[in-house]
Amino acid sequence: MTKIADYISKSARQNVLEAIKRANDKNEYHALLSLTEARALERADAVDRGEISGRLAGVPFVVKDNFLAFGAPTTAASRMLEGFKSPLQATAVEKLEAEGAICIGKANLDAFAHGGSTENSAFGPTLNAYDKTKVAGGSSGGSAVVTALDIVPFALGSDTGGSIRQPASFNGVVGVKPTYGTVSRYGVVAMASSTDTIGCFATDAADAELIMDIMAGKDDKDMTTLPNFFEPTAIKSGLKIGLIKDTMTDDVDADVRQVTSDYVARLKAAGHEVSDVAMPIAQHALAMYYIIVPAEVSSNLARYDGIRYGHRAEGVTSLAQLYGKSRDEGFVTENKRRIMIGSYVLSSGFFDAYYLQAQKARTLLINEFDKLFEEYDVLIGPTTPTPAFGLGENTADPVKMYLADIMTVPASLAGLPAISVPAGKSATGLPIGVQLVGPRRSDADLLALAKSMETA
Ligand code: GLN
Repeated sequence: MTKIADYISKSARQNVLEAIKRANDKNEYHALLSLTEARALERADAVDRGEISGRLAGVPFVVKDNFLAFGAPTTAASRMLEGFKSPLQATAVEKLEAEGAICIGKANLDAFAHGGSTENSAFGPTLNAYDKTKVAGGSSGGSAVVTALDIVPFALGSDTGGSIRQPASFNGVVGVKPTYGTVSRYGVVAMASSTDTIGCFATDAADAELIMDIMAGKDDKDMTTLPNFFEPTAIKSGLKIGLIKDTMTDDVDADVRQVTSDYVARLKAAGHEVSDVAMPIAQHALAMYYIIVPAEVSSNLARYDGIRYGHRAEGVTSLAQLYGKSRDEGFVTENKRRIMIGSYVLSSGFFDAYYLQAQKARTLLINEFDKLFEEYDVLIGPTTPTPAFGLGENTADPVKMYLADIMTVPASLAGLPAISVPAGKSATGLPIGVQLVGPRRSDADLLALAKSMETA
């Protein structure tokens, strides 16, 4: 797979034309919803003329289509925003452009980022880069697949409960979900504001580190951003690493466990100390997540009423009908399911029993992580319980689909940095990723560890 360095100091126009050709040649994966060809070529010529320079001069990339970006509509893979032309760009995109990077297209996702397979896209699923009968993972499935297929050397995604890490794992690339607040969310369609993060896909940890270094930092347009703490760093030797044994039970696919154990063996060989840790509360994280996230979703999606924002239905005779029909037509089934669950858990009769309870449990989860990090530098486990599952395999059963998130949601609820690194393959040749989780603001340390393991 290519690296960012392979594109630097080449003709930017050539880089863009070749990336667009690869995208068109690999059209059958349906990883992209649109190309931003005209604008990309304009920017490429400006780079070639020396008018734009920087650490990513002339490097093509792709953004998930829930990032506001110029050159193509921002749809969030939904009918609700079909054809929506953005009046501004996301801060993350602006920062990459300021370094000379060139966005060539917008990647497919589960509509409004609700899902773990990209099958909830209103425009059809993305196929796995290694096996076209399998899902890409999600919700940032398109971004993972364009990186894995080498259409571009890196892509942006958002991760609310695993949407970068899980598809990264399913497609054999590095996926970074930073500490909550590391990268501005300004200009990214909101899903669940208390866990939404912006991160990236890359073919190795060094490239991911460069992208995070560029994107990280305080943004006056996003109150939740932290002052920049991200500082690329060297690997620390003799780390204390905890293998979360609750993620290595018999319910977990045997190949996934084997690949994880092999990675642990390599960590030990590299001089790190790895021991089993118990995290019994982790098994409840999924229940917390699927209360808290729908609650925030129902609130964030309230703005799409067909009047202020989004698709407006025709042929209606009352205001209530206008709201109802616009939302019915604009949202996919999974969006509606989350709005209903969210409205329910926030309703006056059930708020205490569900929402409040989930928030209390979330505090216990956060405390448990903090306690473990008093003793361990890093926690490790599989990124997902299985390799990529079949297209259509989990669509009839939402709970089965949600279970695929069981290993990624704990770090999201606690706001911790977590990255998925390619660690091996299943017997049938599907990629398997391992997840590294660290204390808040240890993002650069995790990437340093990942880098050292790529060469170990
Ligand atoms: N699969 C998870 C969900 O459906 C994660 C989604 C995300 O991170 N955007 O909520």
